[in-house]
Amino acid sequence: MIYDQILIRYGEISTKGKNRQFFVDKLRDHLRYILRDYEKIKIKANRDRAYIVLNGEDWEPIGNKLKKVFGIQSFSPVLKVDKDLNSVKESTRELFEKLHAENKTFKVSAKRADKDYPYTSDELNRLIGGHLLKHINGLSVDVHHPDLELRVEVRRDAVYLTCEVIKGAGGMPVNSAGKAMLMLSGGIDSPVAGYVSMKRGLEIEGVHFYSPPFTSVRSKEKVVDLAKKLAEISGRFTLHIVPFTEIQQTIQQSVPENYTMTITRRMMLRITDELRKKQKALAIVTGESLGQVASQTLESMFTINEVTNTPVLRPLIAMDKNEIIKIAEEIETLEISNRPYEDCCTIFTPAQPITKPKLDRAEAFEEREDYERLIEKAVKGVETLEIEAGKEPEQSLFENLF
Ligand code: ATP
Ligand code: MG
Repeated sequence: MIYDQILIRYGEISTKGKNRQFFVDKLRDHLRYILRDYEKIKIKANRDRAYIVLNGEDWEPIGNKLKKVFGIQSFSPVLKVDKDLNSVKESTRELFEKLHAENKTFKVSAKRADKDYPYTSDELNRLIGGHLLKHINGLSVDVHHPDLELRVEVRRDAVYLTCEVIKGAGGMPVNSAGKAMLMLSGGIDSPVAGYVSMKRGLEIEGVHFYSPPFTSVRSKEKVVDLAKKLAEISGRFTLHIVPFTEIQQTIQQSVPENYTMTITRRMMLRITDELRKKQKALAIVTGESLGQVASQTLESMFTINEVTNTPVLRPLIAMDKNEIIKIAEEIETLEISNRPYEDCCTIFTPAQPITKPKLDRAEAFEEREDYERLIEKAVKGVETLEIEAGKEPEQSLFENLF
């Protein structure tokens, strides 16, 4: 055991003034949740910092989990020591011995949050540096590229020592910004849209449209696997699966081929909005990126969007496909999205979808059928999966689904 605590530095939370406590509480609750299997540790979060007291646990596996937690700017495994100068010096020597500092280069960076401490930062750098040079064989100073940078932070309660600063995921704590429904296909874009929205603190529930028997069991499995990846970030993830076959078939039979895509999307948005009301969410998130395909021209988005006043958030709108793929790789959804199983849109995609659909025409085509009834039926038939990070959803639900 080298370190006894992990010190967590907040990112943007620190700028939140009066609301800061709310964000700190969200982060603390989330940390407690994702680290719930570590029974010995203790998590404390105050206005400026959070601390995980390890009580004998190894910091590294916990550190790996922290890297994915939004709302953390950086973190360090630390040794908490008494403020008395001699004990600080001795502790730094012990720390360097444990880190096998012989024949390495180093520098000391001391910082005083407690301005009443009897030594200035410069004095501390010199005193501690001198002590280490005297006691560790072959150690030398390199202020530009040291092998070890010893950070000494003097705070009111104690002095904290560390040689590591690990970058956090940034963003805002999960579930600190309200709830939105994510339209989750099996493609590359929508899981990335979910991830970046979560990064801004949104609580996300997924909505997936499926059309058995035209789409296979495998394509559903794919979406559940994507949802599991998103669950790893938030801890839990709710996925609503909407039976969409009847609506898609009705559209195929009654709408001119080049408008089927537009009408399909309008139906999806209406149904998602119904689910949003039921789940008390305030927005809808999609993976659309401007001009990527026929349904994502501005004219298309306008005509599709007309079915609702609910804010439709499109976090990928200005991103290039390459940028989106890069994120998908980082969050390990790319490999899942690339599985070859088709989703309901791919199968029913017309050869030449219209790129500039007109609202009045779309509305006229919808007059031909009783979509209200079909939408109601689809909403009633929704299956909801509660996915918990690291756990398989209950088997019975799967039997129902496939
Ligand atoms: P993606 O990679 O996310 O599928 P895409 O580039 O394939 O996006 P489209 O197929 O046109 O684009 O879909 C645009 C958006 O519509 C998707 O990002 C997603 O939010 C939503 N969407 C498409 N198909 C479905 C589906 N079967 N279920 C739920 N949402 C869907
Ligand atoms: Mg798609």
